[in-house]
Amino acid sequence: MNYISTRGGKDFVGAAGAIKQGLASDGGLFMPDKIPTFGKGDIAKLCAMSYPERAAYILSLFLTDYTYDELLSDCEKAYSPDRFVGGAAPLHKLSDDTFVLELWHGPTSAFKDMALQIMPRLLSAALKKTEESRTAFILVATSGDTGKAALEGYRDVDGVKIMVFYPVDGVSRVQKLQMATQLGENVYVCAIEGNFDDAQTGVKKIFSDTEMAELLNKNNVFFSSANSINWGRLAPQIVYYVSAYCDLINKGEIIADEMIDVTVPTGNFGNIFAAYIAKMMGLPINRLVCASNKNNILTDFLTTGTYDRNRGFHTTMSPSMDILISSNLERLLYVMSGAENTAELMKKLNTDGCYTIDAALKAKLDEHFTGLFCDEENTALEIKRTFNENGYLIDTHTAVGLNCAKQYMAKKSDGLKMVVASTASPYKFAADVYKSIAGKAPADELSALGELKALTGTEIPYPLCDIDKREIRFKTVIEKQDMPSEVLKTLGIDA
Ligand SMILES: *Cc1c(COP(=O)(O)O)cnc(C)c1O
Repeated sequence: MNYISTRGGKDFVGAAGAIKQGLASDGGLFMPDKIPTFGKGDIAKLCAMSYPERAAYILSLFLTDYTYDELLSDCEKAYSPDRFVGGAAPLHKLSDDTFVLELWHGPTSAFKDMALQIMPRLLSAALKKTEESRTAFILVATSGDTGKAALEGYRDVDGVKIMVFYPVDGVSRVQKLQMATQLGENVYVCAIEGNFDDAQTGVKKIFSDTEMAELLNKNNVFFSSANSINWGRLAPQIVYYVSAYCDLINKGEIIADEMIDVTVPTGNFGNIFAAYIAKMMGLPINRLVCASNKNNILTDFLTTGTYDRNRGFHTTMSPSMDILISSNLERLLYVMSGAENTAELMKKLNTDGCYTIDAALKAKLDEHFTGLFCDEENTALEIKRTFNENGYLIDTHTAVGLNCAKQYMAKKSDGLKMVVASTASPYKFAADVYKSIAGKAPADELSALGELKALTGTEIPYPLCDIDKREIRFKTVIEKQDMPSEVLKTLGIDA
């Protein structure tokens, strides 16, 4: 299987090359040249497998220059029970027709671990497969969760260095502490004055700066990405939708081939796009509900067909979804309308900040996707209601998802089961979760963890215990235009 650009450029690389390179050279995103499909009996086979086996099986369909045994060995290490305490992606039954797919049992308590525990292993193997002698320098822009998960995944991986940029006031106290206290000899963390889109735009600019690439090359270094624009992030995310479907069958909740609906709290459109690929592969998914917070640009896009980023940016209690440019939407446009149209729309987005899709493409979107959103007040209410009525504690992002799932389900009567992706541990956003239930603020953002535990009788996950007692290693804050010089400084390269 080969990987090509969503914008039709000349790149034509294997999976290892796509993972190593991150972004296609024309600025587009890598996509497989065809999507594999499940054959008869495949899902039944997957039902009998463990999570690492399901992951290796599905990844082997996309990453054809890795052997199944290589992938299985990496998946067993990545999703081991000591890293994912309580299971890799357990399904919690909330009510007769609603299931919560818990994707946050990994080492940083957010769903990003599902990809970022395996991707560094894939990159490491990719460097060997392509006989790479240079150091891979991973550049990451984060709205909070990716940064920590990438740091943890790439920490002390041979042949790799990683640098993370985050918006100084755009992440929670816990997220900031998680990153500032990161261990490892090959990791760097830097805050910028600006929001997530500034960080992401800055990183994309550095990636497409050919002079800088040459300078690095002379110093035996090259850039690579860990953001969800990298195919190595997306492929592992397809797995848990298939896995959830298998678990529903195994638990007797659905029969073989029965349709389900899926709701995903969405930011950069990576997670929900992975669900769509699962659907393209033949997983019986009926509708994909794209759940947004107050930054509801995707809701508007899916409703009207116009994507318009010329609007205010809101800082919400679900910061990992505070995004105005959802990069992975480009992959969906490509799959549904081809490279030429995608390149045109992306050019419009770049110059005008907006674009409108034609009626044919809009009709295709409508076949699969529904866009809904949940404001701050209803996010808090959803957390409280779910705890009081179901005895189940959810984080702010999951609350947005669950609320949108309920909005959707209230309007239909097809009886299909709904799976809601749960993207973070409630303890990662403890202050807002506590406030939503208790009706008053905790003493401070850090004491909130203990206060939430006392209030709800639930356990703090192991990655977040004693977070305030670790040594702060990274304190740098810079202006966004200084990102390139900070990169060179970190690498010890004179411009
Ligand atoms: C990253 C993230 C999201 C958004 O996922 P996308 O793939 O960017 O759409 C939602 N919730 C949490 C907790 C996240 O960390």
